[in-house]
Amino acid sequence: DPTTQVNELDASKLIFERNKSPKAVPEPNSPESWAQNVCTDHMITCSWTSSAGWSAPYLKPYGPLSLMPTASVLHYATECFEGLKLYRGYDGKLRLFRPDRNSRRMLNSATRIALPEFDPKELQKLIEALVATDGEKWLPKSRPGSFLYLRPTMIANDNHLGVRIPNEALLYIFACIFPSFDTGRGTAGLDANPAFREKERLGLKLLASKEDTVRAWPGGFGFAKVGANYGPSLIAQGEAKARGFDQVLWLLGKECDVTEAGASNFFVVWRTREGKVQLVTAPLGDKIILDGVTRRSVLELARDRLSGQLEVVERRYTMCEVEEAVEEGRLLEAFAAGTAVRVMSQNQGGNLLTNLQYFIAPVAKINFRGTDLEIPTSEGDSGKYAAALKTWLKEIMYGQKQHEWGVVV
Ligand code: PMP
Repeated sequence: DPTTQVNELDASKLIFERNKSPKAVPEPNSPESWAQNVCTDHMITCSWTSSAGWSAPYLKPYGPLSLMPTASVLHYATECFEGLKLYRGYDGKLRLFRPDRNSRRMLNSATRIALPEFDPKELQKLIEALVATDGEKWLPKSRPGSFLYLRPTMIANDNHLGVRIPNEALLYIFACIFPSFDTGRGTAGLDANPAFREKERLGLKLLASKEDTVRAWPGGFGFAKVGANYGPSLIAQGEAKARGFDQVLWLLGKECDVTEAGASNFFVVWRTREGKVQLVTAPLGDKIILDGVTRRSVLELARDRLSGQLEVVERRYTMCEVEEAVEEGRLLEAFAAGTAVRVMSQNQGGNLLTNLQYFIAPVAKINFRGTDLEIPTSEGDSGKYAAALKTWLKEIMYGQKQHEWGVVV
């Protein structure tokens, strides 16, 4: 029956409306780039209704959305999003890193909160269309090693206060620059900056969450990238920052299972009492943690390239196990892994530095129940696995090594 047919998301129907007053791209490290999010000239929007399905997507000038105050998302957190980057390679090409994974995860997140389904391949094509339009200008060839942050988002915009499955939704995708702060030499100079290296060795400081502050729980939605996971975490994050920590290490339950660190996945490398070296991270099966694209990539690279050196283990593990490993000198490394992982710190001159960290940030300290656990960082041999993984990821993202994960656009 043609009257009940609804339209699928279809990137080939994209309608272009060029921005007639495009912006100037701010210089790296310039005050314009710090003030607020600077987004590129265009965005993509696509609306959905339960009766008609997906409309034709639009690529149009970046600008405000219009919503009724009754819109579902403003009351019931019917929102999900993604975060990925577009990289300007050292070979001059523009690349996305595993955009298929982000697109599939977006589908998982959307369906967890009753937002409409779509073919993730079509979402990937829309992401590619946006970066094909804005990438060349916003990531000039003269700035290899730079990147844009992409934020595909979906909201329910029903003009209806009923607590019900939404009948209207809006998908949109925009791209923005990530401010980078004074390194004196721009992002390309980071590796050459001795003050920066000094600070990098210090690593992230994490504050383990207390029992009364839970990010995600069995039967909940920790595995979905929905806004409802983030707003309620901000108090704990703010408290950690105020006490001099970089992130919260999210624990769960009486046993203090280790789950994630801030908005990134968390890994330890330890030696077991039997003498085996293991790379350990929380499992996906419990549906507590996010299926991080970086997490997945770290696990796959480790299984592929470090198989003779360590065992890769995805299992529940507790803070007590971590504590014991530290006390017995068996904890070799800990690191956070995620697209937006970065460290901000001050150099000896008091200048603010941003470290882009290439998805992996070593952890130097975890405060658990008032005690600081000191974790070895990149001195001597410790930190070598995180360092190797980081190098491999960076090579793929910036086109120094050709790999199917680096998708040229
Ligand atoms: N966990 C959470 C809660 C996150 O928000 C993120 C960032 N998306 C990650 C882990 C890391 O995921 P990815 O490697 O895909 O960026």
